[in-house]
Amino acid sequence: MKLSTPDEVLRKVFGFPTFREPQEEIIECVMKGQDGLVVMPTGSGKSLCYQIPSMLRPGTGVVVSPLIALMDDQVVALRQLGVRAAALHSGLDGEESRAVWRDLHGKQLDLLYVAPERLLARGFLDQLEEVGVNLFAIDEAHCVSMWGHDFRPEYLGLAVLAERFPGIPRLALTATADPPTRREIVKKLRLNGARSFLTSFDRPNIRYRVYPKQSPHQQLLRLLRRDHLGESGIVYRFSRKKVEATASMLEKEGFRALPYHAGLSSDVRRRAQRSFVTDEIEIIVATVAFGMGIDKPDVRFVFHLDPPKSIESYYQETGRAGRDGLPATAVMLYGLQDIALLGQLLRSNDSSDERRRIEHLKLTSLLGFCETTRCRRRVLLDYFGETNGSAGSAGSAGSAGSAGSEGCGNCDTCLEPVESWDGTREAQMALSAVYRTGERFGQGHVIDVLLGKDTSKISSWNHDRLSTFGVGRDLDRRTWQSVIRQLVAAGILIVDMDGYGGLRLGADAKKVLRGETQIDFRRDPRPATKPSKKKGIVALEAPEDRELFEALRALRLELAREQGVPPYVVFSDRTLIEMAAAKPRDETEFEALHGVGAAKLERYAEVFLAKVASYTE
Ligand code: ADP
Ligand code: ZN
Repeated sequence: MKLSTPDEVLRKVFGFPTFREPQEEIIECVMKGQDGLVVMPTGSGKSLCYQIPSMLRPGTGVVVSPLIALMDDQVVALRQLGVRAAALHSGLDGEESRAVWRDLHGKQLDLLYVAPERLLARGFLDQLEEVGVNLFAIDEAHCVSMWGHDFRPEYLGLAVLAERFPGIPRLALTATADPPTRREIVKKLRLNGARSFLTSFDRPNIRYRVYPKQSPHQQLLRLLRRDHLGESGIVYRFSRKKVEATASMLEKEGFRALPYHAGLSSDVRRRAQRSFVTDEIEIIVATVAFGMGIDKPDVRFVFHLDPPKSIESYYQETGRAGRDGLPATAVMLYGLQDIALLGQLLRSNDSSDERRRIEHLKLTSLLGFCETTRCRRRVLLDYFGETNGSAGSAGSAGSAGSAGSEGCGNCDTCLEPVESWDGTREAQMALSAVYRTGERFGQGHVIDVLLGKDTSKISSWNHDRLSTFGVGRDLDRRTWQSVIRQLVAAGILIVDMDGYGGLRLGADAKKVLRGETQIDFRRDPRPATKPSKKKGIVALEAPEDRELFEALRALRLELAREQGVPPYVVFSDRTLIEMAAAKPRDETEFEALHGVGAAKLERYAEVFLAKVASYTE
């Protein structure tokens, strides 16, 4: 097939009708031979920006990528589209590598994926010079930055490309937004003249929810059964032990789930990741060790059963949901113990004062996010420096985010606005109960004192004689827990993690006791029990359509297993949803579906049309 314009490639190869902002502009820049820096969130469609030019320009496009699994997935997906792509990495045997080189020299490849260490190995660049490179795409470009979270020293060597291939456009891509990392990429990769493309970091299809932690397993099961049966998702936990416990609980409850953490052998981890990507299992329960190198587009939920360490980690981990643009959920649970634990980690951290100060700020921001009464998306975007839905300052192609100052309509605080209440008096009661019991008891006992309970601990300490005994009977235990949690989150109370979790007064407690500050609390939401209204997958209202959708999914899985590829590279959920709704009768109607290009039309139209026909008769 002879293709001549980016637009044509988009429609005929990828089967997409239009470009997203600012893909077309980036492609144009590369087509003209200019360098570029692309900073766009996960799922925004960065890969098309180098894939299309490398298919149109004479020669082969070289994509530098840090992980083998990621390269393989991209190559498999491209081949399904009929694109001539290959990867060179240490996972190939001699014969396989030779075949790739043969194709390269025979000008049979549009795209070549390589790891940086391979690219910089002796003689490799000479060989590439002979072959003819039409562009370099440096994926996950933040790996060059020591400031960021994934520093890979091999990436530093990529600077050499600027001298060795002066006329060849280089495109650096990342989903890491912060300005210092951005500046480091430009400097270390010598991209001084490059145009930068920066979009909003909003992920409008992700619905953010944060709940106080009561019983995490029950809360998880309830949410899974209510909203996500049969869907793919990631559950994050703080420790390996908790990962194991949650995974086996889910297994017992009939979910297909596997654990993933750094304590497992790399083989076991690889298999877990593979099973997840190929839909053999639905849920992966993981520590933060999991995620980099996961391109699975149809992750429908990310649950943090324990809070992450910072807003950056939260954004990155939740960002693995909904890459395909369909509705996805991010739920976080957090409780007093978690806040105390994070605070403790911070205090025991023996790094420099400056580092500790930064970590402290990060923790405070995270807690602020948890306890906010504002739109969560707004708080996230503000944190990343996007005010009023605009994308930072340094960008030529900033597009507006969808969360204006009035809120996004797709987070818990927008959907079920939280009330706040003046709790100055209640805060004083709690603080004085802590103070009068000697700043050594945990929350359970302090609340018993407030509620005026008749326990043996109370009587043995004579706490029923305190003036605060029973002063808090107007509120229930759950509300007092909420009060104490919020006081701890604000640093007004401190949990002593070295001993028995005793509470003591923090810096501002005196001011509160003296009545010098007003305290507003957030009223904790009661967990909803009705299924939440979702767009997208559930948009198939008619039961017959849903049934057809399930049948199409089963067919997709079968075809994927036959070929040993992930189901989503056969067709995306979005394509199957459209198929179930539109019920195409012939190839022309089939070709009109989102994500159906020439290669997939030829390969799959017949079987899928037959399946649709068998349901519509
Ligand atoms: P990123 O690399 O930025 O995380 P991807 O390149 O993996 O994102 O793209 C995310 C998803 O969006 C993929 O499923 C891709 O096929 C889809 N996509 C990209 N561009 C378009 C487009 N113009 N129209 C429709 N879907 C698109
Ligand atoms: Zn909102």
